[in-house]
Amino acid sequence: MLRHLGLSPRKALGQNFLVDRNIVAKILDAAQLAPEDTVLEIGPGLGVLTWELARRARSVVAVELDAGLVRWLRALFAGQPNVRLVHGDALTVDLAGLLAAHPPGPGGSAKVLANLPYYITSPLLMRLLEEGLPISLAVVMVQKEVARRLLARPGTKDYGALSVAVQLRTHAEIVAPVPPGVFFPPPEVESAVVRLTLRPLPEEVEDAAFFSAVVRAAFAQRRKTLRNALQSGAGLWDKDAVPAALAEAGIDGGRRGETLSVAEFVRLSAALRRFRIEPEKSNDR
Ligand code: SAM
Repeated sequence: MLRHLGLSPRKALGQNFLVDRNIVAKILDAAQLAPEDTVLEIGPGLGVLTWELARRARSVVAVELDAGLVRWLRALFAGQPNVRLVHGDALTVDLAGLLAAHPPGPGGSAKVLANLPYYITSPLLMRLLEEGLPISLAVVMVQKEVARRLLARPGTKDYGALSVAVQLRTHAEIVAPVPPGVFFPPPEVESAVVRLTLRPLPEEVEDAAFFSAVVRAAFAQRRKTLRNALQSGAGLWDKDAVPAALAEAGIDGGRRGETLSVAEFVRLSAALRRFRIEPEKSNDR
C-alpha cells in the first residue's frame, strides 16, 4: 500500500503500521465501543483502525501529522460522513474543541484509541489527562517500557510523574503484550496495549495544576529528600512552610519523593496548597 502511494515509513514520525488483524481486534475489544461513542484517534496512519472505528462508532475524529497519509485517508473516507480527518499535530491541535464539535450521542461517551507514535507517548498522555478532556476511556499501544511506567508502584525505578498522573485519574491495565512482528516495519522494542479507564479526580485535589506542580517538584531531583526537593521547587508555595505542610500531611520529609503513594501526594498537595503563593495581580487598581 505504501509503495502504491509513493510513501515510505518515516521513523521520525514513529511510523510502525499495524499489519495484524488479531491486534486490531484486541484493541477494539478493549475499547468496548457503543454505537453512540465518539472516538478520537491519534495517528490513523493508513487507516486500519480508523476503518473499523467508523463502522462501530457515531463519529471518529482522527488527527494525523503526515500530509501524504492525510491525502490517502481523505480519499479512503470520502464517502464516510462520520469520519473527520484533521491534518495536525496531536500535541498542539485543539482536542477539546474537536471533541466539543463531535459530541457522543445518548448513552455514548468519548474515547481515545491510538497506536501511538512512540516519540510523543508521555507528553500526549499527560496532555489527555491534565487538560481534563471529557473522555471515559483510552486504549493505547505503547512501548512495553512505558506500559511499566504507567502501572509502576511507588519506590520502584519506573515510578515517576507519569505514573502518578495516570494512577490519579485512571484505572490502568495491560490488555495484551505485543511483539514487534505485528508492525511494519517492526520496531526495535516490545509493545503493549494499555487500557486507561478514567475516573473523577479525588475531591481533595481542588487544583489539578497545583497538584501536578507538587508531583513534578518531588520528582525533579530524585536524589534529594522530599523536604529539600519541595523547598527548592516551583515558587508556588512558601518554602519556609514545607516542614509544616509535611507534618500536616503526616509524611516524613526525610523520605524521597519517589516513595510517595498517589494518596500521599494528594494529602501533600492539599496541605501545601494552604501555603500557596498567589500570583501577583498587577492590573487590579
Ligand atoms: N494507526 C496506524 C496503525 O496502527 O497502523 C499508524 C500508527 S503509527 C505507530 C503512528 C502514526 O501517528 C503515524 O501515522 C504517524 O504519521 C502519526 N503521527 C506521528 N506524530 C504525530 C503527531 N504529532 N500528531 C499526529 N499524528 C502523528
